[in-house]
Amino acid sequence: MATRLNLYVGCNGNADRERFVYCSSCRNKLIEITGLEPLKRDKVMDFLDRAAGLFDGPVENHNKAFNIINMLYRDFGIFEIAQIMKIQQFFQQHKQCGVYIVLIPEEK
Ligand SMILES: [Zn+2]
Repeated sequence: MATRLNLYVGCNGNADRERFVYCSSCRNKLIEITGLEPLKRDKVMDFLDRAAGLFDGPVENHNKAFNIINMLYRDFGIFEIAQIMKIQQFFQQHKQCGVYIVLIPEEK
């Protein structure tokens, strides 16, 4: 059985002390890393492992996660312009929630 590896962006949600909810937390699948063409997939996997540290767990530092996403766009070209703009908007809108990126395996 093969395992897919998906990259997600999500947030931890945001509510105040009176339990007024600004965001109840959400998560979006960005791309299936294992679905990239082999040469690019290997380079991206290597980047996500060594440089981004995403194989050790989620990246929860806002700036670090934001930079990783931008490098995936700029250096590896794995997002369309419309998609990177959506993701950047997500980072802005959910900044107070705590934004993270994470790799999640999925059995085929
Ligand atoms: Zn949020």
